[in-house]
Amino acid sequence: MMRAAEIIRAKRDGRAITEAEIQAFVRGLVDGSWSEGQAAALAMAIVWRGMTRAECVALTQAMTHSGQVLDWRDARLPGPVLDKHSTGGVGDKVSLPLAAIVAACGGVVPMISGRGLGHTGGTLDKLEALPGYTVNPPRTQLLAALGAAGCAIVGAGADLAPADKRLYAIRDVTATVESVPLITASILGKKLAAGLQGLVLDVKVGNGAFLSGLDEAQALARNLVDVACGAGLPTQALITDMNQPLGRTAGNALEVAESIALLTGARAGAPEPPEPRLLELTLALAAQLLHLGGLDASVAAARARAEAALASGAAAERFARMVAALGGPADVLADARLPVAPVVRPVPALRAGHIARIDTRALGLAVVALGGGRARPGDAVDPRVGFSGLRPLGSALAAGEPLLTVHAASAADAEAAARAVQAAITLAEAAPPPTPVVVGRVEAAAPPASA
Ligand code: URA
Repeated sequence: MMRAAEIIRAKRDGRAITEAEIQAFVRGLVDGSWSEGQAAALAMAIVWRGMTRAECVALTQAMTHSGQVLDWRDARLPGPVLDKHSTGGVGDKVSLPLAAIVAACGGVVPMISGRGLGHTGGTLDKLEALPGYTVNPPRTQLLAALGAAGCAIVGAGADLAPADKRLYAIRDVTATVESVPLITASILGKKLAAGLQGLVLDVKVGNGAFLSGLDEAQALARNLVDVACGAGLPTQALITDMNQPLGRTAGNALEVAESIALLTGARAGAPEPPEPRLLELTLALAAQLLHLGGLDASVAAARARAEAALASGAAAERFARMVAALGGPADVLADARLPVAPVVRPVPALRAGHIARIDTRALGLAVVALGGGRARPGDAVDPRVGFSGLRPLGSALAAGEPLLTVHAASAADAEAAARAVQAAITLAEAAPPPTPVVVGRVEAAAPPASA
C-alpha cells in the first residue's frame, strides 16, 4: 500500500507523482483512508508545485472514474446532451437562465452543478433557496424533469465523481482552490462522468475570479479545453470578466429572483430589463453551446434563437417546468416563495463619484460572512442573505446614495457587511473605461496535420 505521506512529500518537493500514486490518492478520498489533513496537504503541495499535463490528465481520469459514469443512450433523450460550467464568480447566476434557454432551443441539459466554493457562490445553494427543490433526485425523477423541461439542474449525486465531492469541500476551506490542475480535474472529473456531447466553459478572469490574471485564465481555459477534447468531449471556453459582480444581486435567494426576472423580464415591454452584462453573458454562452451541440449552423443563428426563446417566454416556461418537476414551487414564475431576510438596509456611499473599482472577492467574502456561504465543510447556508441593487463599474453616485442594499439575518451582520462594502467599492472623480463582459474565446487546438 502506498503511504499517503510519501506521495505528499514527493509533490511537496516538486516531483511529478505517478499515475498509480494519483489513483491511490483518489481512492483514498473515496474510501476515507486519506484523512482531511492529508488531502489538504497534497492539495496545498499541488497549488505550490503544479502538475504536468500528464499528471493533470491522470487526476482528471481518476476523478471521473471514482464513481459512476452516466450514459444517456437508453434514455432516448430528444436532443444532444449539453452543459455549461463556470470556474466560479460572484453574482454568477448564468446557469439558471442558460439551462432553460438551451432546453427551449432543443438541447437536453442535465446540468451537474456545485456548491459555493471559497468566496464564490454555488448553483445548488442558489436553487435550494426554492422551497422543496431537490438537488439530488432519484434517476426516475431526474429523467421525468428532463422529459418535462429539457433541463434539470442537480447535484452530482452520491456516486458521480465522489472523489471531487470530498476534495472540493476540503479545498473550499483550506485555501487550495487556486490551481490550474486542481480546477481542471474538479470541473472535468464531473463533466466527463456526466455523459455529455458538448460543454461550454466560462473561465472567469479578474479580481473576483480564482485566477485573477489574464495569462493564468488563458492557461486554465487552454488546459480545460485540451484535456476535455483529449478525452473526447467537444468543449469550448469563453474567458469572461469578473472585475465586478455579475448582475444586480449576490446571495442565494436574491440570485434566484434575479434569474427569474431575467427569464420573464427579457420579454418585450417587461417592467425591469435584465442587467445588460448578465444578459449578454447568458446569451453568449448559450449561443456557443447550441452551435457546439450542432443545433445551429452558426453562433449568430444560435444567438438569434436564444434571444427569441427569452422574448417568447419559452425559456421561462422551461425553467418553471424544471422547478416543478424537481419539487420546487408549482408556479415559480408567479410565486417563487423565496425566503426573505429580516434586516434589509441600503449602504450609503461615503462620498460622491463614479464607481472606479470593485474588490469583487471582498464582496463575495462579505456574502459568505453574512451566512450565504460556508466557513467549514457541511455548514448550512442562509439562503436569505446577500446584496441587491449592485451597480456596475462607472456608475455615478451622490454622497449618501446607496452603493447597494444589504440583506442580513441581524442588524449586527448588516452593519459589518456595510463596512465591508464601503471598503470594497472605490469612488473616484473619473469613470473607468468600459470593459466587455466576454474578453476571449478558446477553442480546441487544431488536430495535428496528418503526415
Ligand atoms: N468549479 C468546480 O467545480 N471546481 C473548481 O475547482 C472550481 C470551480
